Amino acid sequence: MFLTISTTGTPERPATDLGFLLHKHPDRAQTFSTSHGIAHVLYPEASAERCTAALLLEVDPVALVRRGKGKGRGGAPDAALAQYVNDRPYAASSLLAVALSTVFKSALRGVCKALPERAAEPLPLRIELPAVPARGGADLVRGLFEPLGWTTVDARPVALDETFPAWGDSRYVTLVLEGELRLADALRQLYVLLPVLDDAKHYWVAPDEVEKLLRAGDGWLADHPERRLITSRYLTRRWGLTREATERLELVRLAEADDVGVEAIDNAVEDPAPDEETEETAKVERTVSLAEQRRDAILTALRDAGAASVLDLGCGQGQLVQALLKDVRFTRVVGVDVSVRALTVAARRLKVERMSERQAERVALMQGSLTYTDKRLKGYDAAVLSEVIEHLDLPRLPALEHAVFGTARPATVVVTTPNVEYNVRWETLPAGHVRHRDHRFEWTRAEFRAWASRVASLHGYAVRHLPVGPDDPEVGPPTQMAVFTVADSAKTTTVKEEKAA
Ligand code: SAH
Repeated sequence: MFLTISTTGTPERPATDLGFLLHKHPDRAQTFSTSHGIAHVLYPEASAERCTAALLLEVDPVALVRRGKGKGRGGAPDAALAQYVNDRPYAASSLLAVALSTVFKSALRGVCKALPERAAEPLPLRIELPAVPARGGADLVRGLFEPLGWTTVDARPVALDETFPAWGDSRYVTLVLEGELRLADALRQLYVLLPVLDDAKHYWVAPDEVEKLLRAGDGWLADHPERRLITSRYLTRRWGLTREATERLELVRLAEADDVGVEAIDNAVEDPAPDEETEETAKVERTVSLAEQRRDAILTALRDAGAASVLDLGCGQGQLVQALLKDVRFTRVVGVDVSVRALTVAARRLKVERMSERQAERVALMQGSLTYTDKRLKGYDAAVLSEVIEHLDLPRLPALEHAVFGTARPATVVVTTPNVEYNVRWETLPAGHVRHRDHRFEWTRAEFRAWASRVASLHGYAVRHLPVGPDDPEVGPPTQMAVFTVADSAKTTTVKEEKAA
């Protein structure tokens, strides 16, 4: 089972830089023990003009079967045994993907201290895999790799037996990929797509596989035309996980569809002025700098509540996280968002990598969807949902309520959302329009109050309402804010339960 990765270079930019990027020296053959056998990394050629790294995995078929992981999808053990003894040691598959992620861990993450700029730029790459089990054949192989920027995707079916052409093709293809890609992107694509093509993942698919898939798929999976097939196969058709991954990818797409492109975002970070949710909302709300008033109102509510650890749920580009960090009372600040791109901008804004260790320990940014319960969100004093609920489809809102008020259960939850009644006061907003394209709804004051009191009584919170911005006598304030506090009775039960435990 093996694959080779080759690149070309010049005396100024030698191909042997590949060794730095893979964190494996071209002059040495190295051996690693992985959970399924021994992996070797060696360089059949290593010159300034051309360098090739080979990853070779010696699978231990007996150990595979003995560990009971060879039983496939509920198939008969003998059939599974035959399959593993016959093809596992030779075919590139999910085992190779696992070896790839173990042996080239830093390269997959795009980390290279020695040559950071080389790691960040596309390289001329040629990747060869002599035997890839491909359920769906060469056509599917092309369908999976061609949209990812490879200029050559050469997938040739391997004959079942060359001396008996009449027997037709096996389910293997010889695959050659050529193109200019970042090494990390190429490796992450292989890590996901090899098991997808194999379609017989060898290990149990745990819920954190969704996390792994989204991490490895960052930047290429959300927009891939075959994302449904990839997701479903990668998660071995476990529909609960597939649904979660599909929905989260969809959210990433939606959240990022409005983005003007990374360059524009970069500029926005340099320029402190357009500090808004998005440019569009900014246009509408700029005159009063409503965003700033909103942040002040939220900070006041959190200080009044005596909160020290705070979750900013749907943190976007991190403006509130940044404001929270300026106040030492907030000892732990965590921003959560479904959009990786927003989080990247947030990380840049906060200059996380330049923070002192102590400061860095106060803050974290996490990718996650608020419509799924997430145990990482438990144990905080307060959570903020600033201009987030209106980005969810109404039928998905109860899922967020359950995850935030039912499961994470911070003592304080601050929610802000636009007051639709105020929209008539925005000069630049045509009548009957919401403030932003991605708002699925905007509520009147009565609608927000009805929602808040239902959520409060369902989950054992008390709620009070505060205006943000000028409180117009007729139509109310532009932003409405609700502060939920865990009701005393609920608090006592928790304490009692803790004592009992
Ligand atoms: N809180 C920020 C950003 C609001 S924009 C502010 O007040 O300016 C709404 C944010 O919610 C976006 O960044 C979007 O990516 C995020 N979001 C939308 N649906 C989400 C979901 N289901 N889970 C997590 N974040 C979500």
